[in-house]
Amino acid sequence: MIYLDHSATTPVDPRVFEAMKPFLTEQFGNPSSVYRAGQDVRWAVEDAREKIAGLLGAKPREIIFTSGGTESDNTSIKGVALNRGNGHIVTSRIEHPAVLKVVGWLEKQGFEATYLPVGSDGLVDPDGVRKSIRDDTIIVSIMHANNEVGTIQPIEEIAAIAHERGVVFHTDAVQTFGKMPVDVEKMGIDLLSLSAHKIYGPKGTGVLYIRKGTKLDPCVHGGHQEWGKRGGTENVAGIVGLGKAAEIAMMEMASDEKRIRGLRDRLETGLAGKITDTLLNGHREKRLYSLTSICVKFVEGEAMLLRLDHEGVAASSGSACTSGSLEPSHVLLAMGLPAEIAHGSLRFSLGKANTEQDIDKVIEVLPPIVEKLRAMSAFPR
Ligand SMILES: *Cc1c(COP(=O)(O)O)cnc(C)c1O
Repeated sequence: MIYLDHSATTPVDPRVFEAMKPFLTEQFGNPSSVYRAGQDVRWAVEDAREKIAGLLGAKPREIIFTSGGTESDNTSIKGVALNRGNGHIVTSRIEHPAVLKVVGWLEKQGFEATYLPVGSDGLVDPDGVRKSIRDDTIIVSIMHANNEVGTIQPIEEIAAIAHERGVVFHTDAVQTFGKMPVDVEKMGIDLLSLSAHKIYGPKGTGVLYIRKGTKLDPCVHGGHQEWGKRGGTENVAGIVGLGKAAEIAMMEMASDEKRIRGLRDRLETGLAGKITDTLLNGHREKRLYSLTSICVKFVEGEAMLLRLDHEGVAASSGSACTSGSLEPSHVLLAMGLPAEIAHGSLRFSLGKANTEQDIDKVIEVLPPIVEKLRAMSAFPR
């Protein structure tokens, strides 16, 4: 299989698996236990916490381990909302469902929300953020990079605008952490979500960064773990794996970027030269180096995916979370694409193991697939 869906998930790095192994076997103690077998495990959890904190420019006390990006997004927004009891939320139309569905649910509970539009490049206008903030605004939540088109938002500027009005700023950094530097101090972030399985770590583990002094209610009530901010016995192996994955990501960030960007550009140029009537989605420069999102006119994305799969190529039409719904991507629609063009979307997200041969294979197999599908398509040309 040629795997080109790293924005959906990544394989666990063997070095990460090695680090996790002892905590799935002999090191089984509960980190909250007082005896040595518990305390050894506690040490491993705290070591991972310190690593992550260091990489984010945060303090260890500001790092909460969660079950992943979805829980971190939920806890950020619900946590602040439930703490305040009422108020107004600012977000964008292109957020991940883990943000959009939470805000939608909170609206049903009586909160109010503004969903900011984006330009055709997928960028949120910071001025729009400024104009949308009201006296009763409690949180601004804007993702760092979009998972479908890769556009990177001007987070620093948006955070500063939120802070001018004393509003908490949350960002979903699941797609950027490990791929580019993320510094909560420099960027002015109060709450940040990240996930292990997008950076060659295990599924079911994530982090919520909570700036000291940010008031939020827990969403998972239970024991005193994570300073009472998230109950439940820690997912020790997952946390250790996340720590290791983050450490590797930081060490290899520069060399990975150079190589993967080169492959992505090779793919884009190769496809553009062989397939007519395509659109490149997202901002040309301000986007993830690992991803290309295109719309192929007069063809269904799902049909291309099935045929690519038949050729051994795993890609996606947008996000893993919306595929199967057959709805065109909410991100592409928000960027102003007509539904019939948005239906023809394809996302290739590259990773560490990809080679030039992988890319050349896609450039070889996709054009005839498009040609065949276009020949039998009912789309008006
Ligand atoms: C994958 C993803 C999530 C969800 O993270 P999980 O760990 O799978 O819950 C949230 N936001 C973005 C941008 C993502 O890409």
